[in-house]
Amino acid sequence: MTIAHNLGFPRIGAQRELKKAVEAYWKSELDETGLRRIGKGLRAQNWQLQQAAGIQLIPVGDFAYYDQMLNMTVLLGATPSRFGYAGSALSLTQYFTLARGDKNNFAMEMTKWFDTNYHYLVPEFLNTTEFKLGSEWLFEEVAEAQALGINAKPVLIGPLTYLYLGKEKHAGLRRLNLLPKLIPVYQQILARLKAQGVEWVQIDEPALVLDLPQEWVDALAPTYAALAQAAPSTRYWRSQPFAGEGAMRPLPHPSAPPHRVVAAPKILLATYFDSVEQHAERLKALPVAGLHIDLVRAPQQADSFLRNFPANKILSAGIVDGRNIWRCNLSAALQTLSTLRETLGERLWIAPSCSLLHVPVDLAQEDKLDQTIKNWMAFATQKLAEVATLSRGVATRGVTLGREAIATQLAAANAALESRVYSPKVHDQAVRQRIAALTPQDAQRHSPFAERIAQQQARFNLPAFPTTTIGSFPQTAEIRAARADYKKGKMGESEYQSTMRAEIQRAVRKQEELGLDVLVHGEAERNDMVEYFGEQLQGFAFTELGWVQSYGSRCVKPPIIYGDISRPHPMTVEWAQYAQSITNKPMKGMLTGPITILQWSFVRNDIPRADTALQIALAIRDEVHDLEQAGIAIIQIDEAAMREGLPLKKSDWPYYLDWSVRAFRVCSSGVRDDTQIHTHMCYSEFNDILPAIAAMDADVITIETSRSDMELLEAFREFKYPNDIGPGVYDIHSPRVPSVEEMSRLMRKALAVIPANRLWINPDCGLKTRGWPEVEAALTNMVAVARQLRAGSSTRT
Ligand code: GLN
Ligand code: ZN
Repeated sequence: MTIAHNLGFPRIGAQRELKKAVEAYWKSELDETGLRRIGKGLRAQNWQLQQAAGIQLIPVGDFAYYDQMLNMTVLLGATPSRFGYAGSALSLTQYFTLARGDKNNFAMEMTKWFDTNYHYLVPEFLNTTEFKLGSEWLFEEVAEAQALGINAKPVLIGPLTYLYLGKEKHAGLRRLNLLPKLIPVYQQILARLKAQGVEWVQIDEPALVLDLPQEWVDALAPTYAALAQAAPSTRYWRSQPFAGEGAMRPLPHPSAPPHRVVAAPKILLATYFDSVEQHAERLKALPVAGLHIDLVRAPQQADSFLRNFPANKILSAGIVDGRNIWRCNLSAALQTLSTLRETLGERLWIAPSCSLLHVPVDLAQEDKLDQTIKNWMAFATQKLAEVATLSRGVATRGVTLGREAIATQLAAANAALESRVYSPKVHDQAVRQRIAALTPQDAQRHSPFAERIAQQQARFNLPAFPTTTIGSFPQTAEIRAARADYKKGKMGESEYQSTMRAEIQRAVRKQEELGLDVLVHGEAERNDMVEYFGEQLQGFAFTELGWVQSYGSRCVKPPIIYGDISRPHPMTVEWAQYAQSITNKPMKGMLTGPITILQWSFVRNDIPRADTALQIALAIRDEVHDLEQAGIAIIQIDEAAMREGLPLKKSDWPYYLDWSVRAFRVCSSGVRDDTQIHTHMCYSEFNDILPAIAAMDADVITIETSRSDMELLEAFREFKYPNDIGPGVYDIHSPRVPSVEEMSRLMRKALAVIPANRLWINPDCGLKTRGWPEVEAALTNMVAVARQLRAGSSTRT
């Protein structure tokens, strides 16, 4: 028997039931009992779905009302002390307050979970941080699953990953030093689970795929020695050598103190998202019962694990892609697994590469999707079936018989694969030829920045410290309603056109009144900065319900790139042209860049990401060209996701930076010297990649800096960024209106590291989530700051 298991299942529900219930609870439309009932129902449904699919060990503890990392913090009794929740059993309201803050407390910080679009709540560590068994939720869920006849495998985030992903809030504190305090609580958790009759516990240590400092790697062996061998019992047990077997047998002893030893459940240590080959020998030597490795992202690591794989361990092969929506190549997977099985026999387990949290729930409900394309895909539910099928195939002796055992599924998978490989929907010869014909000149502006900026200055005659915004203006309820009506066919083309034009006009007039120098049209017609373009490009598909959790109750529906990309028609030109026609100030054309479109979509797995990026770049290049022809002289290409696309391992950075910078240059270089290219990046912690940012060679870059009090600009002290730059002075994530003093202080900080004639003044990001009154007040102050600064120095360049 080859065990088929799963690492985690999406908790949001196929119809986003959890999101809806949680939001209803926040609005007091649902009480705690009601929310818990829905949560419990979803868990049961997900477990039963996995069981029915043939999954033998089913994850429990992958459920969370907000975030699994926050659940871990609560389980470890480590909620930040500023909330004052220590020692109390947490109510759901308190749990959500940790995540969202309230009037007394700012929320816990949130950041990206590895290289996914999921965001977790960052554990906070103080000198005084203590850990102790906190919530009962995990144990309750295990009991719940067992009562339903589910073979429950509780899932924990491992102690090293938990600490590594957290943050010290006291200077001098080193979070690794908290490990001795943390381990006993993990031991108690394991003992409790053991007492519940749990056989296997999955402990996730994805931090092992990162470039960990050596001291963290060295902590691995002692940590797992402590976790795997013994756990202090909360009950009165006494251990005695058991004659003949050399094993320890726990015996009840009425007078023994509560710190005696019981055996821990079997531990499956799980890693995913990249290779852990560098730690293979250490991992194999750990006293755990099994290891899970990701063979989709890092197939090459299999060999290092197979070599002298210990006879007393199981190896779980993450063979079905948990990060993308493509159907598994069952035939190839079976081949790989058969090789593994030759060495491992029954000790081979089969699973998705990582938790299925990162893919949508069920493809079956997508009835509007093109049937051919749909047949190439698999969502979480379909992936479980693939795992179960593979386990049946590989469990049958001999590759040939194994293939026969799953002949129907193999035939279907092969047929789908074949139809994809040869499909005209996928392959566009014209796109391939354009890519092949690209020359170095295509990725190079005609003249160096110094010459370009002089020509641009002659053309625009901007004042010193030019003011601008990042693109979007408030997306009012009316705007959203108009877009929705238009989409549903309730509003006709011409009415929609005039409604949007009215919005553009309103945004333009406001900007003129405010005295901004470079205007934007406001993006009223855009639902989302990636979807808007994806919908107009060839090679993209969209789902009805393909939601993936991004954070808390927020879900995203990423576009799916299935084929070669091209741009049949201009996408933004008419709006931009209209906006420019109603003002004498320069109007910025507004586009999303190739890396951001790539990063926020499900991408093809049949060609390298770099190739897809280049195809998008060519489509955007066409749009840039058409905007220029239409008289738009300043064009912004947003690369919000440039930084987050960085690979997990530093050794993979140079290659990524090379192709991503090239893609940006390809999309932005086909313009005249006096056309000004802007770019914008949100998450601007790019201290270590500044040379690559500079190599993009945008004439102007606007970045997010106000929230960090300009600290992000420190990198600019060392590295002299050559082109123009607009460090954000207005935090758009909050409704608060920054004062003139505040913003001029930020500008003075910026002036300490950036020459005055290179500086722009702008908000941190787009204003679509804000309301007009705050925006007007904040921008009034922002323009006042620019005027003050100009009074000191009067010319640019
Ligand atoms: N131009 C976009 C806007 O203003 C940029 C959004 C972003 O960077 N996330 O909304
Ligand atoms: Zn932004």
